[in-house]
Amino acid sequence: MVTIDNYRSEFEQIVATVRHNVRWYDEIVARCGYDDTQDPSRLPLIDEALLTKHYYDADGPISAGTQIYQTSGTSTGARKKIHYSTRDHLDYVTQRKKIFSRFLTFDCKVACSDLGTGHAASSSAEIFGELGLESFHIDYRRPVAEHIELLNKHRPDVLFTMPMILDSIIQTGEIAFHPKKIIVVGDVASRAWKKHIVDVFGLGRTDLLDIIGSIEVGSIAYECFVCGYYHFDDHIIPETVAPSVLFEAVEPGRAEILTLTSKNRTVFPAIRFVTNDLIEGFGWRKCQGRYAFTFERMIGRLGEELKNGEKISLYDISEAVNTYLPGGRFEVHKDPRKFVIKICSGDFTFEKGEQIKRFIKQLNPDVKQLIESSLVRDIDVCPVAVEELSQAAKKTFIQKR
Ligand SMILES: [Zn+2]
Repeated sequence: MVTIDNYRSEFEQIVATVRHNVRWYDEIVARCGYDDTQDPSRLPLIDEALLTKHYYDADGPISAGTQIYQTSGTSTGARKKIHYSTRDHLDYVTQRKKIFSRFLTFDCKVACSDLGTGHAASSSAEIFGELGLESFHIDYRRPVAEHIELLNKHRPDVLFTMPMILDSIIQTGEIAFHPKKIIVVGDVASRAWKKHIVDVFGLGRTDLLDIIGSIEVGSIAYECFVCGYYHFDDHIIPETVAPSVLFEAVEPGRAEILTLTSKNRTVFPAIRFVTNDLIEGFGWRKCQGRYAFTFERMIGRLGEELKNGEKISLYDISEAVNTYLPGGRFEVHKDPRKFVIKICSGDFTFEKGEQIKRFIKQLNPDVKQLIESSLVRDIDVCPVAVEELSQAAKKTFIQKR
């Protein structure tokens, strides 16, 4: 098996660049012993705790000309700030163009992106434009009825969206056209879900492409219709870590935590970055005469963030529960359709449940907006008896520090 040890020179290069741009990263690398042997496995795993301490709250650009994108909250209450330099951004656009150009056909002229917020949303017009497509973006603040109206009016050949938004659009039953190609990003897309989507639009299985990305790393992977596995982007050096290494209360299973190094990210330490995404079937496989890192499927995520259109952190949920029901025990359940917070507290009332919901939405205005636009379903907050929380230790994952 090929491992990160086969990429020593790539690591040397990116480690030097990031050390130059991110001072605290230089300090922790200097302490880890990497300089003695240049063995990449000595480099620290970059996890949420380290980034919360050093990166996400950092004010001001790391180097001149960086763009800052904000996302979900951290334990300090601040929104995460993630930096992109001009070069990082251009590399991202190039990677996505490569994937899209292989997938799209010559009869695709007009594209629509309906993606919420963040770097992926803000870059999509640029990517489609450089591929010679006309494109338009639907603002996530518009209600779902207006999304439908715009889609029916412009009838885009290509729809670039998130699974949850696509579900909401389909549920209205008002879509009066069929895109030729659909690209989805940002949530787990199961086999059954993909089949359902292509059936709804009368498409072939190779007309729906699932891609993986994150605001931290950029473009990560895409599904391959030839071998059926997901391939990593060329700039990615992936590895996996057993969940029990990083989290307590996790039962052993097939899934491993995806950990990534990007050869291209210069103002974020995407070097052994712990994504918290759980994947199965990671391996070095041959496809079309060439070996590549691949995985079979992504099954969800561990850690202190969950997604409801955009990310919501467990900190925010804990803050909300403890504000209105101090000491209340809770667990969060997330499946593709529902986001449920189950709370066990003798003081639970309907009104308190509503207050908790409002509090979480206030802390996460993008999620609130997606819900108000009916693009994602509202959060459910419900009371449960203590016996029903028997799984709590397994559901609420605690990150080892
Ligand atoms: Zn393949």
